[in-house]
Amino acid sequence: MRCPYCGSLETQVKDSRPTEDSSAIRRRRVCSICTGRFTTFERVQLRELTVVKKSGKRVPFDRDKLARSFETALRKRDCDPERVEQMVNGIVRQLESMGENEIESRYIGELVMQGLKSLDSVAYVRFASVYRNFREARDFEALIDELNDDPPEDEDGVVLAGRDGKDL
Ligand SMILES: [Zn+2]
Repeated sequence: MRCPYCGSLETQVKDSRPTEDSSAIRRRRVCSICTGRFTTFERVQLRELTVVKKSGKRVPFDRDKLARSFETALRKRDCDPERVEQMVNGIVRQLESMGENEIESRYIGELVMQGLKSLDSVAYVRFASVYRNFREARDFEALIDELNDDPPEDEDGVVLAGRDGKDL
């Protein structure tokens, strides 16, 4: 495994153990050249997935990108990383078991929104506002209505929304 810091191929595994739900093996690695440390994960991949973007462009499905969508939306929110990991695993399994090799990015976006909704309502509003490109206040109101059972804890998510527009 190439060192992400210096590019050397001389890296060693220092520690290897399953994640909490045993869906992956986490390996701590150290670079023999620059002593940089990093972590890799070994996971089951049931099938190769392709994401079809809104533009029609096709790109390989990237689990890390999916995880980053959650991390971005959950930034500064108090959310257990293990729950996020399990959520991402669940979405990947769901996508892999759909029986389709090509999946629309919009569909993945919807799954992320559903996932965020159950993890953290503020993060959900934050992500949804960017993802759905809200332009009008009443779109926010409609979203807040959806959250009536579990209203956001503060206004921060709404205020912050839209600043870090990410193309999923
Ligand atoms: Zn290195």
